Amino acid sequence: MSEPGLHRIWNFYPGPGALPLPVLRRIKAELLDYRGLGMSVMELSHRSAPAVALIADTLERLRRLLGLGDGHEVLLLQGGASLQFVMVPMNLAPAGGKVDYVDTGYWSAKAIAEARRLGCDVAIAGSDGPGHRRLPDTLTVRPDAAYLHLCSNNTVEGTQWRDLPQAAVPLVVDMSSDILSRRVDAAAIGCLYAHAQKTLGPAGVTVVALRRDLLARIPDGLPAMLDYRPHAEHGSNYNTPPIFAIYVVSCVLDWLETEVGGVAAMEALNRRKAELLYGALDKSSLFHCPVDPDSRSPMNAVFRLPSPELEQRFITEAAEAGLVGLAGHRSVGGCRASLYNPVPLQAVDDLVAFMRRFERRA
Ligand SMILES: *Cc1c(COP(=O)(O)O)cnc(C)c1O
Repeated sequence: MSEPGLHRIWNFYPGPGALPLPVLRRIKAELLDYRGLGMSVMELSHRSAPAVALIADTLERLRRLLGLGDGHEVLLLQGGASLQFVMVPMNLAPAGGKVDYVDTGYWSAKAIAEARRLGCDVAIAGSDGPGHRRLPDTLTVRPDAAYLHLCSNNTVEGTQWRDLPQAAVPLVVDMSSDILSRRVDAAAIGCLYAHAQKTLGPAGVTVVALRRDLLARIPDGLPAMLDYRPHAEHGSNYNTPPIFAIYVVSCVLDWLETEVGGVAAMEALNRRKAELLYGALDKSSLFHCPVDPDSRSPMNAVFRLPSPELEQRFITEAAEAGLVGLAGHRSVGGCRASLYNPVPLQAVDDLVAFMRRFERRA
């Protein structure tokens, strides 16, 4: 923002979300000549040694940052989180099998709908009730369920599980909007998945980490692209992978490790950003956050003003002031600020200052 001639605004969009400026600069610098090869990374054959090495390096970084050992297979797939809503029950539940889901809003409902469409016997282990103000305190999980599915951060509702629940059956977690934003015991998760476009990079690539013993459950006869095993056997290079998206993810992971200082440092920074914004919301007599403090998401802060007209005015005037992407999801309205990993503290500072000015004038 301080560089002459460079026009940048603060991006609070919920997804795709902001990318770190140093990463964008690096992409620009490497675009025409990727690491001395005389071509861009987009032009590389996916079977060439540099492409194979890039994919392997990205998987290795993910494994390191997630704290995963050999017990998990890590995959880079396409189709977004929405395809995982389908692949998870297809691969991990027997035909017509029992699967338990926690219903905490928009995205978990989509996952539930897909499991039902595939003929699974779906039970709701718990839900957050009307208004999505607080995540459930207790869950009822069937001991013979194939897995328990939940969404760790509810992007639309602005709720996040402080600690992931324990269950006697494998946990399947949609981490699309909070992967690597905080420390999580990923090794204890049966299957986690996250598309890249909220905290990891651009749309087009999806991370899946699957406990290796769960691969044995996969029924034979699935279409190859929808079966985790061919992707695992081919090092996430079964068909042509989205190499540019993977490259950007590798740059974001490198930034996270070397410039931010790892996931614990990222978590501390994310906590400061969240405290700053929620603190301002709680002090305000114009803005308010409807979510219970224990369930508030550091990634997506949902808030309201007294009327839809005032909310619209706030969103419009904020955008004019260079604070963009503050509208709530179309299904719920209101306002939402998404504070994913790449959003710097300065952006939140500026947002809070703008909110104070708006409140004085309103
Ligand atoms: C955005 C989002 C999705 C949808 O992801 P696609 O990649 O567009 O399919 C799924 N789950 C969560 C938690 C999300 O935030």
